[in-house]
Amino acid sequence: MIIEKKVAETIAKYKLLKKTDKVVVALSGGKDSTSVLYILKKLGYDVEGLMIDLYLGQWSETHKENMLRICSEMSVPLTIVDLKEELGQGICFIKAVLKKQKNLTGCTVCGIIKRWILNKWAKKLGADKIVTGHNLDDEAQNVLMNFLKGNVLLGVNSSPATGGKEVKGFAQRVKPLFFCAENDIRAYAKKMKFDILYDKCPCSFETYRADTRDWLDNISDGEKLAIVENFQKLVPGLRRENVREMKVCGKCGEPASSELCNACKIFACL
Ligand code: AMP
Repeated sequence: MIIEKKVAETIAKYKLLKKTDKVVVALSGGKDSTSVLYILKKLGYDVEGLMIDLYLGQWSETHKENMLRICSEMSVPLTIVDLKEELGQGICFIKAVLKKQKNLTGCTVCGIIKRWILNKWAKKLGADKIVTGHNLDDEAQNVLMNFLKGNVLLGVNSSPATGGKEVKGFAQRVKPLFFCAENDIRAYAKKMKFDILYDKCPCSFETYRADTRDWLDNISDGEKLAIVENFQKLVPGLRRENVREMKVCGKCGEPASSELCNACKIFACL
């Protein structure tokens, strides 16, 4: 199948994973992360699932039930991290506070929190790599959003393999679906009859990302691929001229680009 072949090719070309790696797959419960878990297991990688219960009502409950069932069917261990146990609050409260205090939009806050928890728990689980289900459409949105915000340099780390590598002791985050279009992944997941929710996140509306996504719906998957591939050609040059030293957060010890990581800056507001 085309998606499976593309994933294997991306892993080989960018040296994303080794068969000896302990691979933790970040599971949202959606089609992308479910598909990547299934494909990696099929390709013979040593995978396990890691899911954060964000407390988004019935949406989260259904995703949890689905992942518990699917991981059990695939004989894959699954860890579910409870956001309220981690941070004392569900994601909606955290986002509301940050919107008010820092005017940060929902997807930005949710992304920072998820990344922080995934890093922390991947380390606890002894992971060599964290896999996420980010796909071609996500990457095309990133390129465009960074460009429109006048901050192209935010994409300096854009790659199927991001972060972690430079910082000893941290699992590197990798994206085997980097070049796979969302439409193709949805078709694959439906063909495989994954019994999951196919809707978009209930919170991702009226955000900059959602607007960009809607706008990109007007162009073909080939054009999205061109956006991502052409930006990839610029990345090495951007990196050479903008070497960013990876640091360790002075408060929590997780990776950071300044003295405090973005998550600790958020926690200070709660
Ligand atoms: P999103 O930010 O919702 O577009 O999700 C991008 C990727 O982040 C997903 O494909 C998953 O790999 C990961 N992810 C999103 N939500 C969760 C979650 N609640 N728990 C664990 N991983 C997640």
